[in-house]
Amino acid sequence: EPQLSGDFATLMGWADEVRRLKVRANAETPLDAETARKFGAEGIGLCRTEHMFFDPERIGAVRQMIMAETESGRRVALSRLLPFQRQDFVDLFRIMTGLPVTIRLLDPPLHEFLPHTDYEIAEVAKSLGADVDAMHRRAQELSEANPMLGHRGCRLGISFPEIYEMQARAIFEAACQIGKETHKAPHPEIMIPLVATKRELEITRAQVDRVAQEVFAELDYHVEYSVGTMIELPRAALTADAIAETADFFSFGTNDLTQTTFGLSRDDAGKFLPLYVEKGIFPKDPFVSIDPDGVGALVKIASEKGRRVKSGLKLGICGEHGGDPSSITFCESVGLDYVSCSPYRVPVARLAAAQAALAGGGGDRTA
Ligand code: PEP
Ligand code: MG
Repeated sequence: EPQLSGDFATLMGWADEVRRLKVRANAETPLDAETARKFGAEGIGLCRTEHMFFDPERIGAVRQMIMAETESGRRVALSRLLPFQRQDFVDLFRIMTGLPVTIRLLDPPLHEFLPHTDYEIAEVAKSLGADVDAMHRRAQELSEANPMLGHRGCRLGISFPEIYEMQARAIFEAACQIGKETHKAPHPEIMIPLVATKRELEITRAQVDRVAQEVFAELDYHVEYSVGTMIELPRAALTADAIAETADFFSFGTNDLTQTTFGLSRDDAGKFLPLYVEKGIFPKDPFVSIDPDGVGALVKIASEKGRRVKSGLKLGICGEHGGDPSSITFCESVGLDYVSCSPYRVPVARLAAAQAALAGGGGDRTA
């Protein structure tokens, strides 16, 4: 099992004394969260909730939720999902006691949740008491030519508000449960994905705040929480001052930000990227290392605009770049508060953050 010991642990201790950037992990399973803690993560910077829904026990209800043609049909499916989702967060909060946990509301590529085979369509039809032909039509209607630029992220939460309501309820019920049990209430950070406009954040934030008040009244208990946004679209970065008025924190999603800044598919770029790097068209793989003239420039603009409106705005990064040493140097230079990376990259990130602090004159240790 992962554990840091001996000289390596000593080296990490030195790194921790000089670094300014906090290091968190991207984690959504109890195993990821435990691994992250053992490697010294100082919280979860990104819990992606979409993966939780592929569990064989849940996928039926998920398809039912997506395929239902009415709100009441979706609510029946969501009531099946709520206990699972509440338990997900109870487990994570317990493992991460005392540390921040950022939970991102559902950001699915919708096509992955649609039923594909005749068998799956027949199953959904049965669960909804619907006609099989009608379900074939519904699947057709919902399918998209370009899902990565389609009905994703907060767009789904705005079309079907009851989905984010269920998730917010699960988060607050779990946080209150742990708070009552341990007298050490978690402080959930709820994150809205794929925001392009301030209004999207206002609408989704209002939903979350309303559910929080409902749950606190029902349980006669309350927890502190924050609501923030991913900055992963160029328009969000360019309007970050307006968006900051509604956000408690920003987390840069540099995977999507790279995709949308270059107009380059995350899923297909590998086919020609090596040639581009070889020819020096791209100095490095932009999906690994932040390109300072593109994504980096947008991160800088958004950080400055956001902090101009809210000086204490918490800023992090949760794309793959959060575990890449040269990108971490960049994050130090723009003054982010934390990087979040995969659990196994946490030690590398702790070292890179220390090096970045030393190089930038941020630390007082020279060895
Ligand atoms: C991102 O876009 O950088 C991100 C962290 O979100 P995801 O990879 O889940 O799209
Ligand atoms: Mg993203």
